[in-house]
Amino acid sequence: MTQSTAESGTEAQTNGSHAAPGAGIDASKAEIERIFKLQRAHQYTVAKTTARERNDKLKRLETVFLAHREDIRTALYDDFRKHPSEVDLTEVFPVTSEIKHARRHLSKWMRPRRVATPMALLGARSYVHYEPKGVVLIIAPWNFPINLTFGPLVTALAAGNCVMIKPSEHTPHASAVTRRIIEEVFDENEVAVIEGGIETSTALLAQPFNHTFFTGAPEIGKIIMEAASKHLGSVTLELGGKSPTIIDETAQVDAAAHRVAWAKYTNNGQICLAPDYVFVHESKKDEFLQKLTKNIEKFYGIDARRSDSYARIVNDRHYHRLNGYLEEAKQKGATVAYGGRTDASEDYIEPTVLTDVDPTSKVMTDEIFGPLLPVYTFKTLDEPLAVINAKEKPLALYIYSRSRANQQRIIQNTRAGGTCINHSAVHFFNNHLPFGGSNNSGIGKGHGFFGFEAFSNPRGVLKQVTPFTALDLLTAPYNALKQKLIDISIKFF
Ligand code: NAD
Repeated sequence: MTQSTAESGTEAQTNGSHAAPGAGIDASKAEIERIFKLQRAHQYTVAKTTARERNDKLKRLETVFLAHREDIRTALYDDFRKHPSEVDLTEVFPVTSEIKHARRHLSKWMRPRRVATPMALLGARSYVHYEPKGVVLIIAPWNFPINLTFGPLVTALAAGNCVMIKPSEHTPHASAVTRRIIEEVFDENEVAVIEGGIETSTALLAQPFNHTFFTGAPEIGKIIMEAASKHLGSVTLELGGKSPTIIDETAQVDAAAHRVAWAKYTNNGQICLAPDYVFVHESKKDEFLQKLTKNIEKFYGIDARRSDSYARIVNDRHYHRLNGYLEEAKQKGATVAYGGRTDASEDYIEPTVLTDVDPTSKVMTDEIFGPLLPVYTFKTLDEPLAVINAKEKPLALYIYSRSRANQQRIIQNTRAGGTCINHSAVHFFNNHLPFGGSNNSGIGKGHGFFGFEAFSNPRGVLKQVTPFTALDLLTAPYNALKQKLIDISIKFF
C-alpha cells in the first residue's frame, strides 16, 4: 500500500491475504432511501412481536452467527491478523453472551412495569410500557467490527426495532461476513447492512432515524449528534478517550502487570477500553515494569513480530499515526523502557512501554489506540488525580489497590464511564452492568437491559380505573373550597 492511499484513509486492508470482498461497495443514496422507507412501513409489524417471537429471532441469529464462526475468524485475520482464539474471545463470545442474556431476560424487560401512583391521583394505576423507538441506525467502528455491530443489534432487536447497520469501511472482510449473516437471517425490511465509507454514513444520517447508536471517535460523535439533531433523533454515542490506570502502593503488582499487559496489547492496543497510560506508585515502579515486561514476553515471546497471537495495526494511516507518536515522544525525552521496534511494511509496532514521557507529547494528549503505554510514577494520589481530572472524562478508569479508602477516594474524586477495581476492561463482559462513557467518552449506555432501554421509549401510561378522580373536583370555576383542597395537596402529596 502506498503512503498516499493510506493517508486518504479509504484503502482496503493490507495485512491479510484474501481479496477484500466488501471493499468499494458504497450504497447509493437512492438505495438507502428505499430501504429506510421499507423499514418505516414495516416497523409496526416488528414492534408488535411477542417476547417469544423476538426470542426465536435471536436464537436464529445466534445459530447463523455461530455457523459463520469460521468465516468471522478468517475475516478478522484478513483484516488485521487477529488470532482466531482472540476473535472467539473478543468478537464471538460477547455477541453470543449478549444474545443469551437478552433471551433470558427479554420477557421481563418487555413486561409493562407497574409503578406507584400518588394519592392525588387516587383511583388510577400506572405502568411503564417499553415501546420500540422504530427504525434505528447502528454505525460501527473497525476495532471490534463484529462485536460492536452485533452487540447493539441484539438489544435493538430485543426492543423490537427495524435496524440499518453501517459497518466500518476499514475492515472490509468483517463487513462482508456481517452482511452475509444478516441477509441469511433477516429480510431487508427488518435489518439491512449498508456498506460504505463516510459518504454512505453521511447519506444515512440524513434519514430521520428514530435512534442512532454510534461507536467511534469523539470528534465523529459530534457529527452524528449534530445530524441527529436535525430531526431530533435520539443518540447513543459510544466513544473513546484516554483511560487511565492507577496502581497504588498496596496493589498486588503481579495481577496488575498481568492484567494491564493483557488489556493493553490484546487487539494490538486498538481497544477503546485499553489502559491508555499508567500511574504507578514510585515504590512499585521497578517491580511493575519488570513484571509487565515478563508478561508481554509470556504472551508474545521476545519478538512479538513472530507471534501469531499478536495482531497488526489496522492500516497504514494508523501505523503512521502511532509511529509519529512514538518518535515525537522520544524526541521530547521519553525513554523506551520496553519494545519500540516498528516495521511499516507490516503495520507492526512492538508492544512498547515508555517512561519519562513529556505530558505535552501527543501520546499523552491524544487517545493512543495502539500498543504504546506511557508509565508515570507518583508519591501521593493527588498527582494522578490532578492529571486525570485535567483531561476529558475517560471511557474507563482502572484502579489496582487493596486499600478500600484509596479505591473510594479515586472513585469519588474522578469521573469515568466505567471502572474496574483490580482488573482492566472486563466490565465490558458483564451484561448486567451499563456500558458506555460520560460526556466526551460517550452519551447513553448499552448492554443488556441498558441496551434494550436505549432502543426503547419508556412510555408512561396512567389508567384511570375508578369513575371519579380527585382532580375532577378541582376544575374551574375556582372557589375557596377548591383552593383549600389545592392547598392540602401541595402540603401533603
Ligand atoms: P471512527 O469514528 O473513525 O469511525 C466509526 C464509524 O463512523 C465508521 O463506520 C465510519 O465510517 C463512520 N464515520 C467516520 N467518519 C465519519 C463522518 N465524518 N461522518 C459520518 N460517519 C463517519 O472510529 P474508528 O476509527 O472506527 O474507531 C476508533 C474510535 O472508536 C476510538 O476513538 C475508540 O475509542 C472508539 N471506540 C469506542 C468504543 C466504545 O464502546 N465506547 C468501542 C470501540 C471504539
